[in-house]
Amino acid sequence: MILHVDMDAFYASIEQRDHPELRGRPVVVGGGKSGRGVVSAASYEARRYGIHSAMPGRRAAELCPHAVFVRGRLQHYADVGRQVREIFARYTPIIQPLSLDEAFLDLAGTERLHGDAAKVGHEIKQAIKDELALTASVGIAPRKFVAKIASDLEKPNGFVVVQEHELNRFLDPLPVSRLWGVGQVGARRLARLGLRTIADIRRQDASKLQSHFGDWGQHLWKLANGIDPRGVVPDRVAKQISHERTFSNDQTEDELLHAVVCHLCEQTAMRLRRHGRKSSTVSLKYRREDFRTFTRSLTLESPTDSTQDILQAAVGLLQAMRESQPRPVRLIGVSLSSLVGADTPYQPSLFDDPDHRDAERRLDQVVDQLSEKLGDRSIYRAASHRWRRR
Ligand SMILES: [Mg+2]
Repeated sequence: MILHVDMDAFYASIEQRDHPELRGRPVVVGGGKSGRGVVSAASYEARRYGIHSAMPGRRAAELCPHAVFVRGRLQHYADVGRQVREIFARYTPIIQPLSLDEAFLDLAGTERLHGDAAKVGHEIKQAIKDELALTASVGIAPRKFVAKIASDLEKPNGFVVVQEHELNRFLDPLPVSRLWGVGQVGARRLARLGLRTIADIRRQDASKLQSHFGDWGQHLWKLANGIDPRGVVPDRVAKQISHERTFSNDQTEDELLHAVVCHLCEQTAMRLRRHGRKSSTVSLKYRREDFRTFTRSLTLESPTDSTQDILQAAVGLLQAMRESQPRPVRLIGVSLSSLVGADTPYQPSLFDDPDHRDAERRLDQVVDQLSEKLGDRSIYRAASHRWRRR
């Protein structure tokens, strides 16, 4: 059995725990009433007013004028996240964190030591409550994606177990948007064929879905039938993915440096996707001719595996670097860290265009496939051509 544990309103709950005067009140983390920032978390009291993460602070203040806005303390939340993970580690070494506050646990082989999955789930919830004064929701199922759906169903403080023989009964009535890989755009495409619930998909012909939607249709049909071969991938694989280039002659030309960075981003992003990871920290390493080395990093709003996102961040860092250090360059490197599993849901920012994001994702897939078959010189962005053709 697989457990999915998801902390309830994690950041906001930590603030309420640490500041008793905030308990029972609508608390908004991030955003600021001035309206420039976006909300990064909202307590359940604040959610009742329609406030949710990624909403502009100004909008949140309109919806609930007496909400308490607090500035986020990411480092502190990360420390608490580690304490949560220490509790998980008492029960199994196979832990796949999706973010600071949620993780999959594979309990295979632990039953004789700790009892069945439901018992472990209850104990973990209890330990989180007793030791950290926080609550978590737990989903338990024989499939990864079902465990994730289950943990969300009765939030907060939820506890849902789905046994093998209950899979269809559990999944059937749920809307298609509960499936991994179905966003708003996807749900609309399915609705055009009258497919609204998971049962609607399950009862379709797999070949019909394949012909309408390609591999995506095939993937959905499998999930709807409770088929999900993905296992829990523990997080100790790679901590960062990086590529760098040393020049035979020190370089000064901006266009060429830009092309190198583009090439490095294509390489690192592709490796990221191959490892089934997303990253939220992009770093640029920059060594001058006199061997002084600088590293600059950018933290993204949400983990990504999109070449375009990574490229945008790295090019911004390069431009800033060139302005402050215009001297000839000996080495440039790009590295991606703060890695999480690729199934970490993307949190769209306000200005995101879902169709555009979809197109970028498909482009990455095609490039990955062609590079796998024909080598990484077969297809690449025009922006890296200046470096690649040399
Ligand atoms: Mg959570």
